[in-house]
Amino acid sequence: MTLPLNRALGLIREVDDFPEPGVLFRDLTPLLADPAAFRAVVGGLAAAVPPGVDTVVALEARGFLFGAGLAAVRGLGVVPIRKPGKLPAVADRVTYDLEYGTATFELPVDVLAAGQRVVVVDDVLATGGTLAAAAGLIARAGAAVVGAVVVLEIAALGGRDRAGVPVRALHTV
Ligand code: AMP
Repeated sequence: MTLPLNRALGLIREVDDFPEPGVLFRDLTPLLADPAAFRAVVGGLAAAVPPGVDTVVALEARGFLFGAGLAAVRGLGVVPIRKPGKLPAVADRVTYDLEYGTATFELPVDVLAAGQRVVVVDDVLATGGTLAAAAGLIARAGAAVVGAVVVLEIAALGGRDRAGVPVRALHTV
C-alpha cells in the first residue's frame, strides 16, 4: 500500500455506540476533509475498479462522495441509488433488512441501461445487506454488477459473502 493511502486510512475515526449502543462506527469525515488523503483514496478506488466497467453506481450517502470521485478519475458516469423521497421519478425500489429495522433504496428512471456493466461504490462494507440490495436493484434493471469497491470492510460481519458480488476493499479490519 502506498504511504499516502496508508496515512489516509489511518484518518478513519472510530466512534463507540453510534448510531446504536454496541456499534463501533467508522467515521470517514477526517479522511474526506484531508486533500491528500481524499485524493489517495479516490485513486485507490479507481485502480480497484474491475476491467470492463462502463458505469458507476454510488450508494447514498457516503458512497456518493467516493463514487463521484472515482467516476471522474476513470472517465465514467455515475448513477445514484437513493433513499426514499429524493427522486422525482423512480424506476424501481427495494426494501431490505438492516441490523435494526429496514431500509429502502430507489433507482432513478432512464439512467441505467440494460446490458450496462456496473461497479457499485460505498464507503463501508459491514453485513453486506446494503450491497446485496443495490445489486438486486441493478440486476432487475437488466444491468450487470461486475463488482463492488469500498474503502473499508469489517470482515467479522461476513458482508463479503452476503453481498453476492465480488468486492474489493482498500482496507479490511
Ligand atoms: P451493511 O448493509 O451492514 O453492509 O452496511 C453498510 C452500510 O451501512 C454502508 O452504507 C455504511 O455506510 C453503513 N455502515 C454500516 N456499519 C457501519 C459502521 N460500523 N461504520 C460506518 N458505516 C457503517
